[in-house]
Amino acid sequence: MTRLRMPLPKEGKDKLRWKAHQDKEREKVRQRFVQNGWRCEGCNQRLYQAPEVHHCFSRTFILGEPWASSAELCAALCHNNQLTDKVGCHERVTNHVDPKLEYRLRETAARRFYAAHKTRYPSSLNPDGAVRRLVKKLEREAA
Ligand SMILES: [Zn+2]
Repeated sequence: MTRLRMPLPKEGKDKLRWKAHQDKEREKVRQRFVQNGWRCEGCNQRLYQAPEVHHCFSRTFILGEPWASSAELCAALCHNNQLTDKVGCHERVTNHVDPKLEYRLRETAARRFYAAHKTRYPSSLNPDGAVRRLVKKLEREAA
């Protein structure tokens, strides 16, 4: 038997700290997906399996927790379809091959985020700027 040269990484403190929050938010995304008739929030295709949960602002726009995983800022997206070779919405946005879809998902998420916090959406800002603005406001209020 081969011995590992390095110990296996332990789960980081931050990761454990946010796990319950992330699980709760992922469940909210799943409920929204069910309420929307099991449709991908990217292409509106009817799915027959659980969606992949995409963090609309986590890769190109670094957002800390609890915001990055909040249900409003996540989208339920379709998987790759191995039968038809169709590349799923999640892979398309994760690999940045569909900037229009990425932008639309971020804008929809930002508007959902504003609605959840009962704040009027600033149409003059792009989704990144809008989300940054509201996060700053919420963090100021919480401090
Ligand atoms: Zn899709």
